[in-house]
Amino acid sequence: MNRRKFTYLASISTLLATLPAWANSEESLKPASALFIGHGTPMNGFRDNEFTKEWDLLGKTLRKPRAILVVSAHWETSSPMVSTSAKPPIIYDFYGFPDFMYDVTYNADGAPKIAHNITNSFTKKIVEDPTQGLDHGAWIVLLRLFPQADVPVFQFSLARSMTPIEHFQLGQEMQALRDEGVMIIGSGNITHNIPSARNDAKLGTRNTVHDWAKSFDERVTSIIDSGDFKALSAYEKFGKEATMSVPTPEHFLPLLYVLGSAKTGEKARYYAKGFQAGSFSMRSVLLG
Ligand code: ZN
Repeated sequence: MNRRKFTYLASISTLLATLPAWANSEESLKPASALFIGHGTPMNGFRDNEFTKEWDLLGKTLRKPRAILVVSAHWETSSPMVSTSAKPPIIYDFYGFPDFMYDVTYNADGAPKIAHNITNSFTKKIVEDPTQGLDHGAWIVLLRLFPQADVPVFQFSLARSMTPIEHFQLGQEMQALRDEGVMIIGSGNITHNIPSARNDAKLGTRNTVHDWAKSFDERVTSIIDSGDFKALSAYEKFGKEATMSVPTPEHFLPLLYVLGSAKTGEKARYYAKGFQAGSFSMRSVLLG
């Protein structure tokens, strides 16, 4: 064997040795998953309940992606942005919770190269933010899904200037990322009404699920089952149940990114169904 051929074969075997086990199988041909997760209270990062037990289970069954792109309810900007930090710090963007929650760390790397590719390839202008860390909508669920923090994570913001259909279209641009092994996580809640939950706490009716919440959650689910994901961009026209379930858009919009990133004919599976405090649907939606 000549020296050149030997060097070539040696470099191939080094490369193969660094690939994860699934990379040599058919599994590697599948796109990475896309997951919408209903995050509810930040306490869910630390509590064992009917919802977080399913998050833990999901974490054990999901194929480990190359990187994770999170679209969270808790990073809103005026125009679309992507985080490019090489080591994103976590943000304690909640108030009045137990002290220990402000000491938690999640030491995942960022994914600046992939983030940079987004700014180069998306049709809309995307601005890079090198300082943005991981908000609690991201790290609370990542603590449960990927507790080892061994997958690079970066975030995509929710632009207040955009309409629901424009958010869905950005999700469609994220389809290609899934082919490159990047998992899309949308973190929010299908129904999310804080004033209603506060009122229930006062009245002592915290655990009664509101009809509008149940009905909106069911309507969204039946549209997802129909495969017409784009139809959910018109959620503002769904009447009173939508006004009550989505009084502000930020917890609903991450769902449009996940569904936008769907492959043709892809079917959704549901996890952690049910409601927290009667006003928050905890339903998670998994593609792939
Ligand atoms: Zn939230």
